[in-house]
Amino acid sequence: MVRDEEGFDYPRVNESRCRDCGRCIEVCPVIDAPNASGHGRRPAAYASWHRDEQVRAASSSGGAFSALAEQVLDRGGIVFGAAFSQDFMGVQHVAAKTRDDLARLRGSKYVQSSTVDAFAQACTELANGRQVLFSGTPCQIAGLRKLVGARNGQLLTCDLVCHGVPSPGVFADYMVEQCQRHQAPTTEYNFRDKAHGWNFPRVRQVFDNGREYGRWDWGDAFTHGFLLNTLLRPSCYTCRFTGFPRVADITLGDYWGVGTRYPQYNDNRGTSLVLANTNAGDGLLQACATRLFSAECDLDHAASHNSYLTKPAAVPRARAVFFDAYRSGESFKVAARSYIRATALLRRACTRIVRRLVWSILGTDLRELFHGLRTRRR
Ligand SMILES: Cc1cc2nc3c(=O)[nH]c(=O)nc-3n(C[C@H](O)[C@H](O)[C@H](O)COP(=O)(O)OP(=O)(O)OC[C@H]3O[C@@H](n4cnc5c(N)ncnc54)[C@H](O)[C@@H]3O)c2cc1C
Repeated sequence: MVRDEEGFDYPRVNESRCRDCGRCIEVCPVIDAPNASGHGRRPAAYASWHRDEQVRAASSSGGAFSALAEQVLDRGGIVFGAAFSQDFMGVQHVAAKTRDDLARLRGSKYVQSSTVDAFAQACTELANGRQVLFSGTPCQIAGLRKLVGARNGQLLTCDLVCHGVPSPGVFADYMVEQCQRHQAPTTEYNFRDKAHGWNFPRVRQVFDNGREYGRWDWGDAFTHGFLLNTLLRPSCYTCRFTGFPRVADITLGDYWGVGTRYPQYNDNRGTSLVLANTNAGDGLLQACATRLFSAECDLDHAASHNSYLTKPAAVPRARAVFFDAYRSGESFKVAARSYIRATALLRRACTRIVRRLVWSILGTDLRELFHGLRTRRR
């Protein structure tokens, strides 16, 4: 894999070793996508959360991923997911063989994860007859499915509602600057700390010297760039794996807007949107019932509050400005000034405060009444 000037890794064939077998073209999910595992059926949608509140609090949404993973581990299987590297300068897929190992996989890392070693290890585990749960972005699942085939229940897959993946090179530069500013290496990083609730996520970083950094998501320069779609890989803007049918057995996301239709499932502690796309996905979800609360919901409602479930992100104008500055050697902090708009930040902060006030003043009964009136009008 060779890193380009925007900090993304691309495969390059070593011509001196290539035997021209054509296998790389055969398994490429972009040249030829795998058959969608759902066979065109409409996914069943659920609002879900892990029944263990500690696991739920440590997860970015409702902790549905951990429930699926625990189920597979309990059956003697192995789970693959994304983890920070030891120095927090990058993200790669690793294997979890025990429940303790799952802690590193928990939580969204908004950076492209490397799957090179994990794909090789998953192939070995499958060849040894072990059950594998592989979780990742839809394009990663498509790549794995092309590599190993469907594997009838031995390979279970779970993809994310994916917004797009930011540049690993830009993330590493941002982390170097963070560590220089705080004069110590990182010991903890969380893109979605829930100390103030799921609806008000904060970026939290802890340093080896005991110092802590915390910002609202829009107040942190890197996460701000991710949320504006500025730092994404070029292919994410034309992603062919958004929409339906999905490529994985189960799809996980945040059930944003759940309170507008189902206020009883919005307690601000994190509600996952879980889509069962295949019979194997249904089976795994049912087996998880003792650890995962799930209530069936309207797929169209969930999709109307989560645009990236059905369409890729649009290219913002600021992308070219940021990467021109970055390529010309500007530091991350200087290049990021191209997209950080004080007025936008202020507007978002005010909207948050007003929304928070309104929700706390209106009781659940009134919210239900408003929702009832709106539905009747429609
Ligand atoms: C880059 C990215 C963009 C996303 N965009 C959206 C979105 O627009 N809308 C939405 O509803 N949800 C989005 N999500 C998904 C959401 O943030 C949660 O990851 C998801 O809801 C699972 O949450 P959980 O509480 O079940 O489990 P958690 O424990 O919070 O999530 C862990 C799972 O996420 C996987 N994961 C974490 N980081 C990565 C990564 N870099 N690459 C691949 N897999 C990763 C882990 O392997 C694990 O399976 C995105 C996630 C990522 C990583």
